[in-house]
Amino acid sequence: LAQLFRPLDLLGMVYRTIRQGVLDMGAMFDLIDTGAEVRDIPGAPALAVGAGHVRFEQVRFGYEEGRPILDGLDLDVPAGTTCAVVGPSGAGKSTLARLMYRFYDVDGGRILIDGQDLAAVTQASLRAAIGIVPQDTVLFNDTIGYNIGYGREGASAEEIAHAARGAAIAGFIERQPDGYDTRVGERGLKLSGGEKQRVAIARTLLKNPPILILDEATSALDSRTEGDILETLEAVERGRTTIVIAHRLSTVVKADQIIVLDGGRVAERGTHGELLRRDGLYAEMWARQAAEREEALAAE
Ligand code: ATP
Repeated sequence: LAQLFRPLDLLGMVYRTIRQGVLDMGAMFDLIDTGAEVRDIPGAPALAVGAGHVRFEQVRFGYEEGRPILDGLDLDVPAGTTCAVVGPSGAGKSTLARLMYRFYDVDGGRILIDGQDLAAVTQASLRAAIGIVPQDTVLFNDTIGYNIGYGREGASAEEIAHAARGAAIAGFIERQPDGYDTRVGERGLKLSGGEKQRVAIARTLLKNPPILILDEATSALDSRTEGDILETLEAVERGRTTIVIAHRLSTVVKADQIIVLDGGRVAERGTHGELLRRDGLYAEMWARQAAEREEALAAE
């Protein structure tokens, strides 16, 4: 969430709170207000969600005039498939995710979900259809049960526990003296990066959206935690249209489609194998990463 909200130029105080990984409800609403740059058109219908086919058609967008970030982006993600987005830092990967959630309106072109233009439906219905698992999950100063239940208003205790099991965090919660009533945050239980990510996964399971946006953490979790989380994520992705801002080789290797963003456009697209054979930007990126990994291993 912090990753997606970063560009909203938050007040310093709110920003620092997010960086600590905790946030209370009041601050959350301030934050949402800060981002209220888009409006529903009067009488806009709700998005009629089908299988979750996502399409970008010649999308243009910039935060400032004269500095386009996306410059005619075309993207087609068939329902239920996974599209990994890679590219150099600043290429616009997170921007693409923000536009899908409609934090901003596009300057040109359109984004369609199941054939409906995002700009023409209500934001509430759009956001109900999309789940986000961010790099850094923001937790509220409340109980762990509340933090998971936040994924869907009115969720029952049984549904919350079911989601926690799906995200493989139920055992951890049940070991706490107060179980689901254990407080987290500033004065409560401190969760590790991996545990916070599981809370985000549990929220997403409760929400059960047809479309998923994953923003993979760049910072390394230990390899066992990472392996466990990947397995859990795979279960969440199954049957959903997934767009993943990918930093890990394991993610891109299994993606149905990879797009390489560069200069505001899709520079290359294909599967991992196709892109390696192409011997272009993607192949170069992975050769560099492989070399870095080897250096890191050698240094250990
Ligand atoms: P990274 O891999 O480093 O996270 P990214 O590909 O996700 O990068 P974006 O976060 O989408 O890149 O940013 C694309 C460009 O837009 C960057 O040059 C960034 O500085 C700029 N940018 C992002 N948010 C804003 C903003 N709120 N106002 C102005 N420029 C912004």
